[in-house]
Amino acid sequence: MRIRFGCIADDFTGATDLAGLMVRAGLDVTLRVGLPETAAPPQSPVEIVALKSRMGPAEEAVAASRRALAWLRQGGAKRVYFKYCSTFDSTAQGNIGPVAAALLADLGGGQTVYCPAFPENGRRVFMGHLFVGRLPLDESPMKDHPLTPMRDSSLVRLLQPQIGAAPGLIDLPLILQGAGAVRRALPDLPAHIIADAVGDQDIVTLAQALTGLVLTTGGSAFGAALGLALAREGLPLVRTSATALRPIPGGQITLSGSCSAMTRQQVAHYARLVPALKLDPLVLAAEGPGAALNWLKAQPAMAPKLIYATAEPDEVAAAQSRLGVDGSGRVVEQALATLARAAFDLGTRRFVVAGGETSGAVVGALGVASLAVGPEIAPGVPWTFARVEGQDVALALKSGNFGAEDFFTRAHAMIEGAA
Ligand code: ADP
Repeated sequence: MRIRFGCIADDFTGATDLAGLMVRAGLDVTLRVGLPETAAPPQSPVEIVALKSRMGPAEEAVAASRRALAWLRQGGAKRVYFKYCSTFDSTAQGNIGPVAAALLADLGGGQTVYCPAFPENGRRVFMGHLFVGRLPLDESPMKDHPLTPMRDSSLVRLLQPQIGAAPGLIDLPLILQGAGAVRRALPDLPAHIIADAVGDQDIVTLAQALTGLVLTTGGSAFGAALGLALAREGLPLVRTSATALRPIPGGQITLSGSCSAMTRQQVAHYARLVPALKLDPLVLAAEGPGAALNWLKAQPAMAPKLIYATAEPDEVAAAQSRLGVDGSGRVVEQALATLARAAFDLGTRRFVVAGGETSGAVVGALGVASLAVGPEIAPGVPWTFARVEGQDVALALKSGNFGAEDFFTRAHAMIEGAA
């Protein structure tokens, strides 16, 4: 098996989001959790490597991404996609720009395009400004994100300090002139180019125009559209048989470390329906997860249950002022990872997890190396399947703002109804 389209995602839910859309588009995809072993053979023409490189120092994100690229190229990839969040989650130091620049350099240079738009989930880019629903990014709930508060909606302004140069812009009027017009405009644009996209058709046009670029970057919608455009040009990316939803016997749990606005609604909704435990970062920092582990052990193994650290922005700010941004994030992630592992040991086999960083921590604690991607629960959130210590496990890894209010019930009902 040769890799034809290699993808690097900067967090786990980003990777499952991309995988879910690609599977919906009919592509043959395998998802790797973390850097694959150097000798690991490719399993699909589309391989997605899920890193945990959104946060942390840019040098580390660059180094991990370059290693992922080396594995993808060794497997045959000549076209590469770098997937990040549709809300362009990053800090002024990076890591989107530095990673894209390093990947581009390793691939021999040229141009790359940034298209985070995901119209189906209300993320649109117009004149270089990112909108979430009807709000500019910096007025959306993303302004209060615990780790990457987004305080500007101009992607051009956000990217500039990250790459040390002014990016270009493929604007909507140009896209509306068609793929040929976009392609003809490229020679006059710099190496790093932001792309507008308001509707799915704009993304399709961009993808058709940009199949010649060795590196493209953006959200899941653009990645899936590029995969389809490459398949239409003859790359054998299309799968012959689907990964079906299958029943996974055992217990179930919902774990949430996301504080995003949609997750807060989902947690509030679900906490009214099932036994629920709220984690307090300050208690976790002082006493560890012992009390939460006792609560978990006291629950009937097969019954639905929810454990969450999800909190309102003022509570998050209070925890961060005591423990630091990284410190409070880490203490919550470690606790949820420990609880996930304990839940597995108690017979839990179906996991719904909210939060990108949180999902990374949970998947790490379960020791999952690769995921088969099944059908979507909501746009960008598929059920995925893995083997953990010889046992079949199903995981739904949800990025903060994805899914509707009843997402958790819907996710569990979908897999419990599988025959
Ligand atoms: P999302 O997908 O919504 O961005 P993430 O899991 O990626 O969610 O990020 C949320 C971060 O917030 C995690 O690092 C998590 O540990 C941290 N966190 C969760 N609950 C709290 C809390 N109550 N106080 C401070 N930080 C928190």
